[in-house]
Amino acid sequence: MSYVLGITGGIASGKSTVVNVFRSAGFPIVDGDVVAREVVEPGTPGLFALVEAFGEMIITPKGTLNRRKLGNLIFRDEEERKKLNRTLEPFIRNEIDRQIEVARKSNSLVIADIPLLYEGHYENKMDAIAVVYIDQDTQLRRLMVRNQLSEMEAMNRINSQMPLNEKKHLADVIFDNSGTLEETADQVIKWLKKQAFIE
Ligand code: ADP
Repeated sequence: MSYVLGITGGIASGKSTVVNVFRSAGFPIVDGDVVAREVVEPGTPGLFALVEAFGEMIITPKGTLNRRKLGNLIFRDEEERKKLNRTLEPFIRNEIDRQIEVARKSNSLVIADIPLLYEGHYENKMDAIAVVYIDQDTQLRRLMVRNQLSEMEAMNRINSQMPLNEKKHLADVIFDNSGTLEETADQVIKWLKKQAFIE
């Protein structure tokens, strides 16, 4: 039996950083962001469903998704945004499940990197959930630097998510990324050893 560890966090809390440590240690990653793009590739049922919902104008002549057009449609329109999420959600969910099942067959540990793990209620697919935590001041600072945002813009993005403290309380495992990259990597390696996934 293989073990599925779901990893989530808040914006710029260091999820990608932690996932990279697992990747370097050789474990397979199912990436929710990648899946969200795969399900709307040309010729997919997901893209077909989007055309049904929003019309042919969201397709380029080459048959790819015209993200700019779609973006304009949902920009500042809450109802259209909800429609987009509702349309794609089942495709994303199925594909994440499928990739986890495939990876399970040949690996003792599978990492599921799902940004909205709690919000999307993916908990029941996981054997355990790790939250990448940082204190809010550090989160704000790193987000401002990474995305070139003002303090106000960064604060707004942080506040639009489920509070990281709340996720921390729900987590089975906490990786605290407030310190150096090395300290974070050490926590991951310790966990892998404790669970006997590495020696
Ligand atoms: P997420 O994937 O959660 O959005 P990232 O892993 O991209 O977050 O990290 C957010 C930003 O903070 C990136 O610019 C990254 O390089 C930086 N960062 C992450 N962890 C650390 C750390 N321990 N020390 C310093 N900078 C970090």
